[in-house]
Amino acid sequence: MKHERADREGWRRGPEGLPPTRRWTPALTVVAGAFLSQAACLPQFEQIEGERVLYEHSASLQACAGNVDHMDAAVALTETMLGVRAPAPLRYSWLAKEDIPRSRRKWVAQGLEGEGLGLHAWALAPAEVHELVHLVAQGDNAPPFFLEGLAVALSGFDDNPTLGGLLGDSDPRPNMAASSTIEVDYLTAGRFVKFLLLRHGPNPFMRFYHMGYPPHTMRKIRANFARAYGRSLDDEVDEYRVSQTASCDSIRHDVVPFACLGPVVAREGNAWTIDADMDCDSTHFVGGVAHERLEGWMDYTVNIDVPGRHYVQVETADSEVEPEINFGPCFACPESFSGNFDPDDSQVPRQLAAGLHYIRVHAFDSSVRVTIRRIASQPQG
Ligand SMILES: [Zn+2]
Repeated sequence: MKHERADREGWRRGPEGLPPTRRWTPALTVVAGAFLSQAACLPQFEQIEGERVLYEHSASLQACAGNVDHMDAAVALTETMLGVRAPAPLRYSWLAKEDIPRSRRKWVAQGLEGEGLGLHAWALAPAEVHELVHLVAQGDNAPPFFLEGLAVALSGFDDNPTLGGLLGDSDPRPNMAASSTIEVDYLTAGRFVKFLLLRHGPNPFMRFYHMGYPPHTMRKIRANFARAYGRSLDDEVDEYRVSQTASCDSIRHDVVPFACLGPVVAREGNAWTIDADMDCDSTHFVGGVAHERLEGWMDYTVNIDVPGRHYVQVETADSEVEPEINFGPCFACPESFSGNFDPDDSQVPRQLAAGLHYIRVHAFDSSVRVTIRRIASQPQG
């Protein structure tokens, strides 16, 4: 069947640990568009109107209190980072599996977790910002490697809002002319696009992104890159491949993680104390309840005013609960600690740069306290 081939090429599961791709080919547009308008008419959807996103979800799902604000803010941050204005109105549907139309069920069974097209995205997750990036950036004709790379560069990974450092030495070129996302290596694509955004900012990237139409051969990609960036792709790749040892000298722009959208916690004395009440009804909790299981997170930010060593301590009201804490800077340079905190590592000092940092707390039905404490410098002499 003609559409089946389009479907098959239209998405794939990403590498292990990454969200699946949500790419659609032009041939899929008709199918997806029909699906989405059909889904939008389903009467059992609960709808919440945000400022930027019309958020809806299946009646069997419970959306948490912070979802709509998070999605609205994510659209605005994506616009700022890319220097574009999103089309409107944007719509996001969090679907229970039983509400996936028949035409998509086969793909969902094989790992499809969401799609975005035009003004509308759906996902099996309550707040999949990756899909919103596709909607804001538009450009369905962009090379799949760069289309998915952009969404990964901005939204990070499921278990970590950043890509963890600058990067890898693997050559991205063999993957760049992937004709569909089934061939895209998400990790490499996300890292290379992030590298481009950090060094050159959004303007040349968006010019390049909207140049040309499929098929995207390496010859066309090289030519378009040179037109947009005024330098050769191969030179850029050479620098990317040694970026692990690069200093901040060539970084001129920031890629701000969506976790940085959380409220700012004020410092008291020499410490910041975050009390996260990990409940779906809590104001900033982003996530949802499906099949009586709560999933999601809460974001906070702290403004580190004096660079230096800090302790981070994690405590839970329920000793059975093992929270996952993502921590990192909301800026690229200078370098600052980024990673996950193990509660057992509370006596390990972390070197933090001055500036805004995010704390993303994952834990359920418990309260979690995170304390960040500046280590007083020792008097000299
Ligand atoms: Zn995608």
